[in-house]
Amino acid sequence: MSENFIVLCQPDAGKSCGACCGLYNYVDSSRSSLEQRLRSRTKRFREMVKNPADVECYASQTLATEDFAKRYEVIYCCEYLGFLDGQEKKVGCLLHPQQNSGIDLRTCSFYGQEICAGHICPSHHFIPQNQSQILIKIIDDWYLYGLCLTDIDLVKTYFRLIADRIGEELKPELFNNESLKNIAMEYFNWKITWPFRSPETNRLGKYYFDGSQYMISYIDYAKFDKELSVLDPIFLSLSSSFQNAAEIEAAESLVWSNIDSFIYVYRSHR
Ligand code: SF4
Ligand code: SF4
Repeated sequence: MSENFIVLCQPDAGKSCGACCGLYNYVDSSRSSLEQRLRSRTKRFREMVKNPADVECYASQTLATEDFAKRYEVIYCCEYLGFLDGQEKKVGCLLHPQQNSGIDLRTCSFYGQEICAGHICPSHHFIPQNQSQILIKIIDDWYLYGLCLTDIDLVKTYFRLIADRIGEELKPELFNNESLKNIAMEYFNWKITWPFRSPETNRLGKYYFDGSQYMISYIDYAKFDKELSVLDPIFLSLSSSFQNAAEIEAAESLVWSNIDSFIYVYRSHR
């Protein structure tokens, strides 16, 4: 690993990611449901686990109390994911040594200590560092951060469309400008609020699940007499499902307006 390599999991005090611990793999992965789940786990863990021998008891109570119905059976939903801080800004591993006076309890986990401590997801390799640093700079919300950070197409396609039009890569410092930050946040918030989002609960971005398998979704543009949209990777990342050509056009218009606004503000501040 090069010395410039930046681990994205716990970037600062304002947010963190828990996606690879199964955070978004519950059938109900809404913010309110996850918040409730993580809150009660954290409380239980703090009350019950006073030494390593108590972990087993915590796990059996958690597994007995919660609904662990998954979107995708292959991804484990770890019972040790909780909140790391009193303000509930950071999700993370309750077994981590920093949570347990230096004692690493991850030996008790489903994956084992070595995998838990060493896992680095593909976003670290496929999202350019300037782009991941922009996400860290503008998003201060664990729920949204993990959803966006692990959606490589969502991030890369947006920043590439802008970079192609302004003729240079975006730098994180640019987002000291509040207007540019707000425009980018409008886009990333669509991961939660997108009006053309499929109502199906077995969708997560471009993936859909039938329990034991995952498949990549697609949009049938020909059905609506439309060409493949340049924005197709973004639409899939936003779990889009369109009913007619007018909806596709409205979706395109939303994204292009966002990009146009970004470029307008960018140019007017140069
Ligand atoms: S999904 Fe990636 S960024 Fe998120 S916690 Fe796992 S390794 Fe870290
Ligand atoms: S034990 Fe491993 S999988 Fe579970 S929360 Fe900790 S790091 Fe994630």
